[in-house]
Amino acid sequence: MLSSMKQLKDLTGRDYKREIIRIYFNHTCQKCGKVWDKKSRRLDVHHINQGNKMTNKYDKDVDYNKVTLLCHKCHLNLPEHRNAMTGERVSIHSH
Ligand SMILES: [Zn+2]
Repeated sequence: MLSSMKQLKDLTGRDYKREIIRIYFNHTCQKCGKVWDKKSRRLDVHHINQGNKMTNKYDKDVDYNKVTLLCHKCHLNLPEHRNAMTGERVSIHSH
């Protein structure tokens, strides 16, 4: 954990905030519980309840109730993420 804090000095703006969020969630996927493997890509910071609106307001303080941390796989599997990817409303029969 200390080594990640050290790297923060090299980060600015949104990268810095994202890294703070990753540390806050202990580099653990909040959906499947997978812990970040340092050899793999970093976990994704996901903004909750923003629909398809892509806002990137990282200038304010982080509201940890509105963000979560997901591994790449869980992030891609999110219904709203899929919709955003295809650009249209797709009815998804989940569960
Ligand atoms: Zn996951």
